[in-house]
Formats: sequence, C-alpha cells, structure tokens
Amino acid sequence: MARTAGSNRKVLVLPGDGIGPEIMRQVLRVVDFFDRRGIASFAITEGLVGGAAYDADGTPLTDATLSQALASDAVLFGSVGGPKWESLPFELRPERGLLRLRKEMDLFANLRPAVVFDALADASSLKRDLVADLDLMIVRELTGGIYFGDPRGIETLPDGSRRGVNTEVYTEAEIERVVRVACDLARKRRGRVCEVDKANVMESGGLWREVAQQVHDADYPEIELSFMYADNCAMQLVRNPKQFDVIVTSNLFGDILSDCAAMLTGSLGMLPSASLGAADESGRRKALYEPVHGSAPDIAGQDVANPLASILSFSMMLRYSFDLAEEADLVENAVRRALAAGVRTGDILQPNTARVSTRVMGDTILRELERAA
Ligand code: NAD
Repeated sequence: MARTAGSNRKVLVLPGDGIGPEIMRQVLRVVDFFDRRGIASFAITEGLVGGAAYDADGTPLTDATLSQALASDAVLFGSVGGPKWESLPFELRPERGLLRLRKEMDLFANLRPAVVFDALADASSLKRDLVADLDLMIVRELTGGIYFGDPRGIETLPDGSRRGVNTEVYTEAEIERVVRVACDLARKRRGRVCEVDKANVMESGGLWREVAQQVHDADYPEIELSFMYADNCAMQLVRNPKQFDVIVTSNLFGDILSDCAAMLTGSLGMLPSASLGAADESGRRKALYEPVHGSAPDIAGQDVANPLASILSFSMMLRYSFDLAEEADLVENAVRRALAAGVRTGDILQPNTARVSTRVMGDTILRELERAA
C-alpha cells in the first residue's frame, strides 16, 4: 500500500446544505484515518457552496471558492439546496453553485457506477440473481448535446402556433475525449466498452459510432468495443444488466440510462459519482466527486442520513484522481463488511438488520478500516 509523507494531493471539500455537512463529516473521519495511519495524506481545504455560501456571501459560489476548486486536484462535494432558498432568483439558487463549478472546471465526463453489494441485492426491484454482484459504469457526456445545442427555444410560426426546438450537436473532439475516458476506465476494469446512441435515426449518433471506432482502432485495440441503440440499452439494463462493463453515451441518453441503472441498486443513499475534465500535461484530470442524492431537507440535521454514497465518492476520488486503487478497495470492502454485518441507516433497512445513525455508520466503517489496514 502506498505510503506518503507529504500531502501534495490538494482536495477542496464543499459540504453544502441539508445533509451535506453531516455526511461529509463521516467522509472526513475516513480521510483522517488514512492520514493517521500513514497510508495516504491529503491537503484539505473546506469551503462553502450552495445555500450556505449564499447566506454567508450572497452568492452560491464565490470567485475565491471557484479559484480554489480550479487549483485543487479534486473537489469533494456534498449536496446543495433546500426550501429556505427556493424563492431566490434563478442565478442565486444553490444549484447554480454546482452548475458553475461543473462549467468552469469543464467537467465533460460524468461517471456513474451501478454496483450492487451482495447484502443489498434484495433491495433492488429486480430479482436477486439478475443484480447480485452487478458492477457496471455509465460514462455520460456532460457538457454538450441537446441540453446545450443551438438553435433552441420556442418560436411562433406564421399560422400563430408555436414550435419548440432543441438541437443535438456533437463535434468529433467532444465525442473523442469522452470515449477515451470510457476506454481508459475499461482498461482498469473488464476491458469492455459499449457505445450507446440512436444511429439508426440520428446522424449525430452515426458520428458517435465512427469516432468511437476510430479511437478504439488507433489507441485501444485490446478493448472489446460494441454498439447498441439507446432504446435497446434501456431494455437490456433491466433484462440482463450484468452483460455491461462500461457504457459510454451522450448527455441526453446518459441522463436517462444512468437513472435507470441507479435504480437497479435499490437505494439513492448508496450511489456515488464522479465528473472528470480534461487531463493536464501530467495526465491528471480536474475532478469533482459527489453523491447522486440531493440535500434531503426532510431528514437534515437528524443524524439519520446514509453517509455511504459520499464515502464511496471519496473512494472513487482515491481511484480516479490519485491512482490509489488498493486504498479505494480498502474503503469499498469496509462498506461491504459493514452492510454484511447488518448495519443499516434507515433508507436501506431490511428485516433482521440494525438501524443506526449517520455517526454510528461512520463508526462502523472506521472500525472495519482499522481491522483491515
Ligand atoms: P433528495 O435526493 O435530496 O431526496 C430524495 C429522498 O431520498 C428524500 O426522501 C431523502 O430523505 C432521501 N435521501 C436522499 N439522500 C439520502 C441519504 N443519503 N440517506 C437517506 N435518505 C436519503 O432529492 P429531492 O428531495 O428531490 O431534493 C431535495 C433538495 O436537494 C432540493 O433542493 C434539490 O434541488 C436538491 N438536489 C441537490 C442535488 C445536488 O446537490 N447534486 C441533487 C439532487 C437534488
């Protein structure tokens, strides 16, 4: 296991609103464990984002915090939003803080793993044998496509009726960089990439196929590349999800398919994610790690939220920003053993398991880490 004396890994921690601060507290205990045991150290800076930043500074993300994010190796993000800020003008809403971070860091690849821990296989809406030990990764293009393409808008036609327009647009460069992320990931996994599109009815989908094939042939010949139409992929995800390793797709299809895949795992409180930007000269990418869930205002401050999605986001950070695969395994195995021992927060409670608080779930993860390290 890598041992590091210095702390040259700069991490900006942004807990945010609602349950964000309480779940991030448990993540920071894991960070502290790594440091204390001399396994890996991090230079941590904490900042405000979302409603918390608005309350302090009148904006959901200050320029100073943005500069810190841009200068960091990785950002660990909690969650933002809540009823307190819902009546604010659009530009001042907590969610704008996250959107601005994504845009300024140019985070174009969104990684959403769908992993089913054996102990939770019964929580899925699918039969246990279809999802037990599932481990797939959806790579969604995040900054292009139909959500951003021009022309867009609602126009009035000569006959007075209205027409709504959005445009799917992708350049070769935009497709290539996200396909490369998918192939790099597959190299460290089971070596398979499935590119998903609607090439049968959309020209942009045809370009996705061509570019994916070119990238593959030029630089990733050992990867098994396949193609699938998005409607078929939706069916296959619920019919036989274990056939997939890495799926790479556009912003729109990724949005829908990643939510579908998420539900195979049965719980929002377990789902981590990463968003990656371009690699610099040293090969390191800008990156933001966050749970898929929101700020859960209905349970905020009650010490009942599940911190595991955030702890697993930290483990993704170890793996993808710092190449600390063994350390990431250590965290994931601690989660696996805590679940196997029947320790559960309320959202993943099952018969014959023990309901614990956020803090006690953190205690359990730390105990498992201590035992394994
Ligand atoms: P949500 O994900 O916050 O909550 C949905 C339901 O899941 C709630 O009942 C909540 O209690 C539960 N839940 C979520 N995370 C949990 C956890 N870790 N442990 C236990 N239970 C958990 O979604 P929502 O209710 O639609 O949105 C609430 C707020 O969060 C809104 O202001 C929304 O804009 C914001 N939001 C933020 C993000 C983000 O920060 N990335 C993402 C989604 C929603």
